[in-house]
Amino acid sequence: MHKNFKNIEKVVFGRGSFDMMDSILSERRTDNARFILFIVDDFFRSKELERRLPVRDEDVVRFIDVDPQEPTTEQIDTLRDEVLVSRGIPAGVVGIGGGSIMDIAKAVSLMFTNEGSSTLYQGLNLIKNPGIYHLGVPTISGTGAEVSMTAVLTGPEKKLGLKCDWTVFNQVILDPELIATVPTDKWFYTGMDTYIHCIESENGILNNAYSHAYAEQSLKLCREIYLGDSAGQTPENNDKLMVASMMGGLSLTYSEVGVCHALSYGLSKIHGEKHCYANCLAFQHLEDYYPEGVKEFKQMLAKHKVSLPQGLSKEWSDDEITAMAQVAYNLHHMWNHAIGTDWQEKISLDTIKKLYERM
Ligand code: NAD
Ligand code: ZN
Repeated sequence: MHKNFKNIEKVVFGRGSFDMMDSILSERRTDNARFILFIVDDFFRSKELERRLPVRDEDVVRFIDVDPQEPTTEQIDTLRDEVLVSRGIPAGVVGIGGGSIMDIAKAVSLMFTNEGSSTLYQGLNLIKNPGIYHLGVPTISGTGAEVSMTAVLTGPEKKLGLKCDWTVFNQVILDPELIATVPTDKWFYTGMDTYIHCIESENGILNNAYSHAYAEQSLKLCREIYLGDSAGQTPENNDKLMVASMMGGLSLTYSEVGVCHALSYGLSKIHGEKHCYANCLAFQHLEDYYPEGVKEFKQMLAKHKVSLPQGLSKEWSDDEITAMAQVAYNLHHMWNHAIGTDWQEKISLDTIKKLYERM
């Protein structure tokens, strides 16, 4: 079966394009209970961007601190219930922030029109009704959450996305000025998520001319941003990173991620590591699977003087390593892509445990 996906309906790109939001939203304000729910990364509270939000009297603004934890099903259910009870169904949801905020916006837009807990809908095409209008504004680039058809949520049982056509944003505003304030370490880890998306998308059986074209261009941009003569957080590189993130996301959508993301999910689920950082922790040890990619990744680490911790596994119990390996093993589609249809003959729980023991 070939992958047949919905894209974002509208995308605007350019420095200062954030200020188009008011006119974009004005066409939408007559739907449902005629107000907009703004979900904004807490970093922007009391900053200039808060004053630039096109908020009207009837709107609801929620600032969310994403650092304590990645988005949870409980958080989505509570937010939805609070807004529904006090104000009804919004005309639209706007998410302004990184992958965490964008996933919260995507998930909550679906949960306004689907009954019960979001835990019921973790998986592919389980959502029953289209969600409400939702608009995404990335403020840190790399995860590709702005373009993907999933809203990743950690629930009591699983870390899995609400994944369907209706998850995809109706509108995305790509304004590279918004990522200028990202601290260097986060700029590195989140950007590396894009790099790893491309390396994994390229190296596996599902890669094809379509996914390859996006990965090739995204990798070219990543190399300019992280290894080129003008490497670093410059305005020009911020323009490039926003585009690279989106293209990396499109590449993996039409191909698949692989070994690193499987291991990363285990690290996030059992040890609560953040997605992009967890990918970096794992990727440095995957030279058997991605020799060229890991070599280049290490050049990028060195160029930006980023050092990743070593010897982590010494602190982990065998039970913890087994639990992480189980999470990773269960991501069959990633192993299938990375290793091949006979992956179960080559990869066992023990193989995966040994990979964690390298960390
Ligand atoms: P994030 O949203 O978790 O934010 C990371 C940090 O950067 C936070 O401290 C935030 O406050 C800060 N930040 C954001 N913008 C900033 C700015 N402009 N200036 C200063 N600080 C800023 O970061 P992320 O790495 O983009 O997202 C990670 C999340 O994305 C995880 O929950 C992961 O599961 C999810 N994810 C989703 C997809 C998808 O396709 N939906 C893909 C990969 C990851
Ligand atoms: Zn990723």
